[in-house]
Amino acid sequence: MADLFVPCESGQARRGGMRRRLYLAGRACLARIPSACGLCQGDARGGSLCRFCMAAVLRSINANTARCPVCFLALADPACCADCSGRAPAFDRIIAAFDYAPPGDLLIHNLKAGRRFTSAAMLVGLLAQTVRTAAPALPANAILVPVPASKASILARGFNPAAEIARGLASELNMACRPGLLRRAREGGRQTHLTRRERAGSVQHLYDCPSRVDGAVIAVVDDVLTTGSTLHRIAQQFKSAGAAAVYGLVVARTPYSGAGKPGL
Ligand SMILES: [Zn+2]
Ligand SMILES: [Zn+2]
Repeated sequence: MADLFVPCESGQARRGGMRRRLYLAGRACLARIPSACGLCQGDARGGSLCRFCMAAVLRSINANTARCPVCFLALADPACCADCSGRAPAFDRIIAAFDYAPPGDLLIHNLKAGRRFTSAAMLVGLLAQTVRTAAPALPANAILVPVPASKASILARGFNPAAEIARGLASELNMACRPGLLRRAREGGRQTHLTRRERAGSVQHLYDCPSRVDGAVIAVVDDVLTTGSTLHRIAQQFKSAGAAAVYGLVVARTPYSGAGKPGL
């Protein structure tokens, strides 16, 4: 039986490796095709941004600003932010591609409000590059789990932006994506205009984990992180279900500790 089983397993691995090589070859071809920049419509390649817009989107991240080592908030001095040092969040660390500010915020708006899926590919590319170079590195066995959207939001948009980003990220990073590990336990209202305290209350009991994830490293994927209250609650649920660590992978991090902005 063991002899029969081993070739089958290596066959699966071979097919997985072939799919991965085809994916990377296709992506390499696409990257050489001239296209319009997703922000200024200037010359770009492979449906990405031109080098000027790319530099503008990443300017604050590349500015060597001090960051909270847990929630990635930009800080005046290199220590934990007041939020994380006062009461440590349940998540272990946030990895974000850029600060939620112009012009990068427009890419997120184009995806969420304009349903421009080319923006999703750009956002995935930016976040994947950030994850590849993150220090300390995201464990290779991390399981990607998108934040589930409300039914009202899916009916209005027709898709869940976090799920689109998680799916693309899984292909880029060759990682597992398992949306079924997290579900909405109830429908909640929009958080956009809520205060910090109201946000924290509104996400209580909003999500649950339907199965045990003992020893797993979970990477929760979303588009924007604002106060971190959603990710904190989700991390609490995953750790109660046995997760060894919970990371947050977000495209954009609001560059201030406040409320009333879009996102988590
Ligand atoms: Zn441009
Ligand atoms: Zn912090």
